[in-house]
Amino acid sequence: MERDGLDLLVVGGGITGAGIVRDAAMRGLRAGLVERGDFASGTSSRSSKLIHGGVRYLEQGEIALVREAAVERAILRRIAPHLAIRAHMVMPVHGRTSAGLLKLRAGLWAYEKLVHLEEGERHETWDREETIRRVRGIETERLQGAAVFTEYVTDDARLVIETLKSARRHGARLANHAPATRLEPLGAGRMRATVRDETCGREISFECGAVVNAAGPWVDAVRRLGGEAKPRMHLTKGIHLVVPRDRLPLDDVLVMRAADRRSVFIVPHDAITWIGTTDTDWLDPVERPTIGRDDVDYLLDATNRILPTARIGHADVSGAWAGVRPLLHQEGKSPSEISRRDEVMEEPGGLLSIAGGKLTTYRVMAERVVDQVVARGGFRAGPCRTADEALVAPGEPVVPPVRTSLSDDEVRYAIDEECALDLADVLERRARINFFAPDQGRGDAERVAGVMASRLGWDGARQAREVASYRARVAEDLAWREGSA
Ligand SMILES: Cc1cc2nc3c(=O)[nH]c(=O)nc-3n(C[C@H](O)[C@H](O)[C@H](O)COP(=O)(O)OP(=O)(O)OC[C@H]3O[C@@H](n4cnc5c(N)ncnc54)[C@H](O)[C@@H]3O)c2cc1C
Repeated sequence: MERDGLDLLVVGGGITGAGIVRDAAMRGLRAGLVERGDFASGTSSRSSKLIHGGVRYLEQGEIALVREAAVERAILRRIAPHLAIRAHMVMPVHGRTSAGLLKLRAGLWAYEKLVHLEEGERHETWDREETIRRVRGIETERLQGAAVFTEYVTDDARLVIETLKSARRHGARLANHAPATRLEPLGAGRMRATVRDETCGREISFECGAVVNAAGPWVDAVRRLGGEAKPRMHLTKGIHLVVPRDRLPLDDVLVMRAADRRSVFIVPHDAITWIGTTDTDWLDPVERPTIGRDDVDYLLDATNRILPTARIGHADVSGAWAGVRPLLHQEGKSPSEISRRDEVMEEPGGLLSIAGGKLTTYRVMAERVVDQVVARGGFRAGPCRTADEALVAPGEPVVPPVRTSLSDDEVRYAIDEECALDLADVLERRARINFFAPDQGRGDAERVAGVMASRLGWDGARQAREVASYRARVAEDLAWREGSA
């Protein structure tokens, strides 16, 4: 980047930035991306990990968003089938009459008229008896039955990494642990960017034909790197809890109502189950927001109301994570009411910022931004091809999602092929050991750090620091448990 400059610099290596740099590189732009921490270290490793077809936007009347999410879900299944695992979403209905169930069926029927569905994706309805038989331990009082529809489970951080690897195959230059620190407008959208290489402390500076700010919760902060900017973001926090699968032995994803009527998911996957999420206001962008006892109790309460015999308590929780939604502020709207639509903003100096949106719709968001960059900068560029080409190239290894262990060879692969530079990069994002392994990887941290030390030339002190800091991070995610029974 320093030697040649770029047509397009993307600031932020979450799913939004990854999608943009892939699209731009595939169209033939000299594209690069810098990421402050590790790739996917922000919101994009902390989602509910669902590829939503948009059913829930129907309730809010967001028809365009419904259609877009359904199309993008199908595209993702085509370009990364291993990162979109089919799941049945079971939505039980409780009430004095069957009116609620009928309303839900009508909604799903309308949804299926609006979007194109694949084989086996149409909804079905279970009556009371079938629901009791298929959802072990479900609350039976006033149970009317359940509506069942299809969604897909993904590994959000793996989706980012594979998108970036695809971008790199098309010539994109990528740097993690490299925050953008200054963006100076040069006129007509061009900018001089300054980036600090955190591995050696050196600052580099280079010219770019355009800069796109895809910094998620930090979008306002990056907008300010180029001058004054009025805040536009409204951040909300969402937490998830992990419990061993044998404590909640479900076959399908359960969609339940929390005490405030919000939808909350219980997602079974291999040996674990995750429960989420919350939606509460959050002020400052941070990589790992704190998890409060009230957040935890909200989710456990919802779980115990729908599955009363499970009696899930604090001690059952083996892992937890929290993320920040980068939403665009809408006057007078509460966190759950704010639209998930994305928007591109242009600053007076020419910086383009993208905010809002979902993991599910990242590809089409990227397409819109790159269209704008190309039109404004007059770059010679081919058409968008991101919907057609698989993320993993033929002959490349298909890394399975949500891995909870790593061989020594796999640690080396994460370093050599996936830019992992510290222990958390490997245990949190190249695999998902921190959230999903029974001991969150505390036991394995030394072995993995040993492999990293020999590959990256760490001395004993660095190795010990990495292990200590990883263990401290894991402890922080479960700190709410202190003092609880
Ligand atoms: C709790 C929760 C559950 C969700 N569940 C789902 C779901 O199930 N399905 C779905 O489709 N969507 C879901 N979402 C939404 C989805 O996760 C987000 O829309 C998406 O991950 C946002 O990605 P992003 O790339 O915009 O932001 P991020 O992933 O946060 O990426 C922005 C990156 O910019 C970097 N950055 C910041 N400042 C700088 C700088 N100065 N220089 C360089 N880099 C910088 C940050 O470190 C960060 O990595 C969920 C969100 C939350 C919070």
